[in-house]
Amino acid sequence: MVHRAVCLAIFLSIATAQQSPVGYTDTPILPGQKWRVHDIDRPRPPNVTPGPEAGKPPSDAIVLFDGRDLSQWTSDKGGAPGWKVEADYMEVAGGAGSLLSKLRFGSAQIHIEWATPDEIKGSSQARGNSGVLIMSRYEIQILDSYNNVTYADGQASAIYGQWPPLVNASREPGAWQTYDIVFEAPQFDGQKLIKPAYVTVFHNGVLTHHHQEIMGAVVHRDVAKYQPHEAAEPLMLQDHNAKVRYRNIWIRRL
Ligand code: MG
Repeated sequence: MVHRAVCLAIFLSIATAQQSPVGYTDTPILPGQKWRVHDIDRPRPPNVTPGPEAGKPPSDAIVLFDGRDLSQWTSDKGGAPGWKVEADYMEVAGGAGSLLSKLRFGSAQIHIEWATPDEIKGSSQARGNSGVLIMSRYEIQILDSYNNVTYADGQASAIYGQWPPLVNASREPGAWQTYDIVFEAPQFDGQKLIKPAYVTVFHNGVLTHHHQEIMGAVVHRDVAKYQPHEAAEPLMLQDHNAKVRYRNIWIRRL
């Protein structure tokens, strides 16, 4: 009996230390795929070491953050964003809400630089989680995916809950990383979807999605669906309670 009690205590301490599941076995099957949403058994993409450098804004870019202030952003909780601006970056303030760009965008080229905390806390989805929500609803996941096992469709550069990246091009915790995203907005005729959204993503200069069709607005543990929305919507940066940093954010309308 003592042995069983010790085993139970060890199990519970491991369970609480894990903080976040690394996948699921009870979620719906993704249409047209053989995997469940956040499938624990879905193969995780191979690691690729990215090259050293990336992009400053071109002359026709709309600069949404140049390191100085949050004048281009509001909070999704209303009012001014509570995120911290320091040196040349801004940092998520957990609980302050996600950021919404004041300008609205449809199809666009987007450049974003981000870094997850250099101190590793938590695991799986609890480690350095944030996200780029294009049109406030199509999420390219931000996560510390450097030696951090989670479900494949939820790791860094995944189209969250839909498609894993082609490879894992993550840098180590604390290092600056880049997304270069080419997004084609969906089209609606009233309530009807005429054309889905497509996205191409480079993570640290490495292709992670090639004109991938997006299934719908981001959702956890369910299959994404489209809901009609405006032709232009704010870009959103997610507050997921991790101190993720952002810098050098620019966008070009297409
Ligand atoms: Mg996220």
